[in-house]
Amino acid sequence: MDKVSGMSHSPTPDVLVIGAGAAGLAAAVALSGAGAGVSLLERKPFAGGRAYSYTHPALGEVIDSQHVLLGCCANLVDLCRLSGASEHIRWYESITFLEPSRADDPPRRSEIKARLLPAPAHNALSFLRAPMLSLADKSRIALGLLGFLRGYPAEDDEPFSAWLKRTGQTERAIRHFWEPIIVGTLNDAFERCSTRYAGQVFHESFLRSAAGGRFGIPSQPLSEFYGQVARLAERQGARLSYRAGVESIEMLPSGLWQATVSDGAGQVNRHTAPDLILALPFEQTARLLATLPEGSPQRERILPLLSHFTHSPITTVHLWLDREVTDLEHAALLDTRIQWMFNKTRIRRREIRENLASGYNLELVISASHAELEQSPKEILRSALTELAGFFPAAGQARVLKSAVLKEARATFSVTAGLDRFRPNAEAAGDHLYLAGDWTRSGWPATMEGAVRSGRLAAEALAGATGSAFRFLTPGLPPAGLMKWLSKGW
Ligand SMILES: Cc1cc2nc3c(=O)[nH]c(=O)nc-3n(C[C@H](O)[C@H](O)[C@H](O)COP(=O)(O)OP(=O)(O)OC[C@H]3O[C@@H](n4cnc5c(N)ncnc54)[C@H](O)[C@@H]3O)c2cc1C
Repeated sequence: MDKVSGMSHSPTPDVLVIGAGAAGLAAAVALSGAGAGVSLLERKPFAGGRAYSYTHPALGEVIDSQHVLLGCCANLVDLCRLSGASEHIRWYESITFLEPSRADDPPRRSEIKARLLPAPAHNALSFLRAPMLSLADKSRIALGLLGFLRGYPAEDDEPFSAWLKRTGQTERAIRHFWEPIIVGTLNDAFERCSTRYAGQVFHESFLRSAAGGRFGIPSQPLSEFYGQVARLAERQGARLSYRAGVESIEMLPSGLWQATVSDGAGQVNRHTAPDLILALPFEQTARLLATLPEGSPQRERILPLLSHFTHSPITTVHLWLDREVTDLEHAALLDTRIQWMFNKTRIRRREIRENLASGYNLELVISASHAELEQSPKEILRSALTELAGFFPAAGQARVLKSAVLKEARATFSVTAGLDRFRPNAEAAGDHLYLAGDWTRSGWPATMEGAVRSGRLAAEALAGATGSAFRFLTPGLPPAGLMKWLSKGW
């Protein structure tokens, strides 16, 4: 690959990237791969940002909040391929939905899986057979999906709750179909998600192609998984500094950007470069922009936009049980607070020899967990165990050897209706200051794919400003089957 013009591997970097989450790593890999000198500053001792794992001090176990990707996450899949992390993704062709047992009825199972028919009908056979929905529910869902067949709205003004009402979705269709998928992917209540992004999820993952809906789960702890992407950036010449929390940024009279790093023990380091990429969550971006002098154009352009962003939480419950209670590797759990189950022992088994003496490890995920933020870990655990036994009767007899409850209050930003007009693009701040992060105008909701796209878009904008026409973005998956003619080709 040709170099980004005017840039070279010199002791002074060409670009400072702040934040080694998926966005910062994607920008660092793109630019270092194109020959730019990159210095990446990360506050934590590991890469991956919110997609992280750590050894729980009291449990002595490595835990993370399971992250999932879909086949349609073309940029994330490509970044994993480049770094070798793709070898540590387990791909699944089907999703199991479980209803809890009621009175004398055992738990009921529905499976959505691509079979035989060409897109957009590839899921139709399993969908028609799924006992979790009645015929009336299915026909409303099918009519609703027709609205996303050719694409999804360009405007994001309508809340998804209004769309559900407008298209006459039944109560059970909402509970057993729209909710597990949308709350799981967009991480918020329907009133706080726009139809544009809900439509994107269904168009890309349910209708456009079977490949787009494949369900991928990293089988390594997440910091190890993203560690491979960080090492790729380093092999390409990028310099990564961990435990380097940036306290302030400023533009020097020379026109260079400077980031001041404090190690917390009184040691201050200053890093300078002609270009700066902030690859941070929106609230951290606001914090650093606020260190620029009042009235400075970059601060004035971006800070007012950030007041429109809000967070949505995710809570995860980590259990080590004295026995295996299911052979399913993952499942959507219907009609409960615990919306998703990951069987971590099975998911990780092939490559990580987990110490089974610690027990069988399950993770339960509660998306949009606003209610759980107010509850104690004990209360959350008690209710999760009761609900779990409704799906897996053996869990009712199992002994809990270890447990942990992890509340992430700032897990994602909410894609509320109308937010798009406040999502800045990479060059919106101007003056060689670029923005990345899942919350920027990536065209995606708060996901790892959105973050990787934003990092690549920032790298493209930066390279473009030097006169180099680099394209780092991977095109989306092509439509398959009949969708070649039906899809508008977004
Ligand atoms: C519990 C949970 C579950 C999730 N599940 C999924 C999922 O299943 N699928 C999915 O696609 N997405 C999921 N997400 C969302 C996904 O993690 C994010 O969208 C994505 O990781 C955001 O990446 P980012 O690079 O934009 O930001 P971040 O990951 O937040 O990265 C920003 C980095 O900047 C660093 N930083 C902050 N301030 C400073 C500073 N002053 N100086 C230096 N460094 C700094 C941070 O330490 C961090 O490493 C989940 C998130 C959470 C929390």
